[in-house]
Amino acid sequence: MGKNDFLTPKAIANRIKAKGLNKLRWYCQLCQKSCRDENGFKCHQMSEGHQRQMQVFGENPDRVVDGFSEEFEETFMEHLRHA
Ligand SMILES: [Zn+2]
Repeated sequence: MGKNDFLTPKAIANRIKAKGLNKLRWYCQLCQKSCRDENGFKCHQMSEGHQRQMQVFGENPDRVVDGFSEEFEETFMEHLRHA
């Protein structure tokens, strides 16, 4: 399996299905916070904490994305070990 295979939308959708994580639709990756519904998610986006995360992200997007990629890979490998 290529390093990027597990980043394709199809692979991600399959993993979400496999884990039953369909509620991730309202998940804020920046704050790592999940919201119950669209309204909750909108409220979260207006929140002070989220605005702060957006600012941090805006100042250094590359570093933040790199961090998420690493974290994603770690979590994914962890799931593989437990599969
Ligand atoms: Zn947020």
